Amino acid sequence: MKQFQILYKDDKGFLEKLKEINEWRTSHSGHVTIFRIYSEDMELEHIRHICDCLDDEMPDALYLGCTSNANITDGALSNTKIILTCTVFEYETTQAKILQLPFSEENAAQDVAALQECCDANPWVQSVEMHATIMDMSMMGFCNEMSRLREDIQVFGGGAFNPDMDDERAFVFSKGNGFLEHGIIFLLLGGNDFHTYGTFISGWKPLKRKFRVTKADREILYELDGKPALDVYRRFLNINKNEKFFSNTLEFPLFLEHGDVDILRCPLAVNDDDSLVMSSDMQENAIVRLAYGDPETILASIREDGQKIADFGPEVIQTFSCAARKAFWGDEHISDETILFNSVAPTSGFYTHGEFIRIKGDMLNFNVTLVLVAMREGDMPKTGKKVNFAKAQIDSDEKIPIIRRFVSFIEASTAELEEMNQKLALNSITDGLTRLYNRAEIERRIRSALDKRTYQGVSNSISLIMLDIDNFKKVNDIYGHQEGDCVIKALSDVLRNTTTGLDSCFLGRWGGEEFMILLSDSNADDAVMLAEKIRMEFASVSYETAGCQTVSIGVTQAKDETADTLYNRVDKALYMAKAAGKNQVVRLD
Ligand code: GH3
Ligand code: MG
Ligand code: MG
Repeated sequence: MKQFQILYKDDKGFLEKLKEINEWRTSHSGHVTIFRIYSEDMELEHIRHICDCLDDEMPDALYLGCTSNANITDGALSNTKIILTCTVFEYETTQAKILQLPFSEENAAQDVAALQECCDANPWVQSVEMHATIMDMSMMGFCNEMSRLREDIQVFGGGAFNPDMDDERAFVFSKGNGFLEHGIIFLLLGGNDFHTYGTFISGWKPLKRKFRVTKADREILYELDGKPALDVYRRFLNINKNEKFFSNTLEFPLFLEHGDVDILRCPLAVNDDDSLVMSSDMQENAIVRLAYGDPETILASIREDGQKIADFGPEVIQTFSCAARKAFWGDEHISDETILFNSVAPTSGFYTHGEFIRIKGDMLNFNVTLVLVAMREGDMPKTGKKVNFAKAQIDSDEKIPIIRRFVSFIEASTAELEEMNQKLALNSITDGLTRLYNRAEIERRIRSALDKRTYQGVSNSISLIMLDIDNFKKVNDIYGHQEGDCVIKALSDVLRNTTTGLDSCFLGRWGGEEFMILLSDSNADDAVMLAEKIRMEFASVSYETAGCQTVSIGVTQAKDETADTLYNRVDKALYMAKAAGKNQVVRLD
């Protein structure tokens, strides 16, 4: 495959270039010829004239195109308003077909069905390149339909645009089909010797802090974590509602979790109610994270992922890059992120309103992303140009941009704080000596179990086991307080060991040498059995200095009652066990 890139300036130069291409085609085994036309010029008459020239000069060539925000030729932002790329496929096996259809949310499914039919009728189809007018459209339904295409078909493309970001007019057009303001073109390519490899790169990095989309409708993001969406930008980044909003948030768009792929969404504007107008659909309940982008980090990602494109050995590289990236970089620097590819293969494309690529069968609609598609006929070249992207990578620590150091600082501090919060939360409910629940927590759990039964109509049995070490004062008096602590800890170990694997069982230190066990799904019979097991287990432990100790236990099952009357009864059962000679279990109903 051979590619010619044409910057349309006037007919003279254009016709000369067409002549040159025709000459090349006669001296080579040129077969299928496809022109892609990208135009920042919104005067359709100008584009139509170019199409007429192609019809006259090269009637066998196919062409398709769209209006764009700006164009990419030779791997860089083009300063020519209309550009053409001409790809001549050299293998007889390579085939192409164009399908152009009216496009709207209502007929998206129909369009995909037509595409499906076309792919079925042409089993050679391997890749579908798409150009579509998508402004003001929700693409969710379309993407879902596209995901059902034959598994092995690669799909990629971009949304037609307008050089004026606020102008909603955009057009697609193709040979024999005229111009559509609401249309979609599919270019079907394939054949045994045709190969493509597509990938996407954003370069923006997600911060760890997650937010949940609690309210969204199509591209309007109303709430994050139950608060107006703007709050996140105001609170964390001090970005406010003003005329700089779009340029400020471009550095910090949102990553939307979509399966195992993160998709960038860019806030375009703020509404009066502090909801945000996003660049594409947002889904309720999805998880989003703020992303940060800075030139060095983005370039580092491009060098890293760009290597995969270079390794494929492409003859042509097509790019669909978001117009928001151009706004982020500015005209002066935007080419920095695509120019490297041109040393691998001729690189061209346009700045889009939404980028598309199918990954693992799933059709994805991106924003702020660079979609790259490498194409080749025949085997991977054994020799030839190979660019070592990695070589160009930043390998010195010194060069890490300051923003990445700050992000690393913030992420590390946040992780430490989170860990500390978890520890504090655990400590606030745990008894220090035994690591069982403390009195407040076991009481809270007992009340909550009783409440659940009362208010949620749950009919399970709830039982309490109360324990008190016998003659414990003596242990302290004779062997010392420290040995007393060891006995208390030993009892807590016995409690843990005898109840491991028991669901709905909660262990608490009630105070001093007293313990309480809540069984939120056991009747008194089961509770007595467990109490007996604990009593015997504890009595069998022999302490180095204190020898064997015993425990008295009260057991009761909750009736339709408050926590206080339940405590009174289990306490009474325990008192009865003491009165009856200690080291025994007494049940009181
Ligand atoms: P009974 O068999 O009737 O329960 O007699 P007892 O000696 O165990 O009962 P009493 O309530 O008179 O004594 C409990 C003792 O437990 C008193 C207190 O000093 C001791 N104690 C309370 N908390 C701790 C603790 O954390 N560590 C130690 N070593 N002793 C404690
Ligand atoms: Mg006591
Ligand atoms: Mg005691």
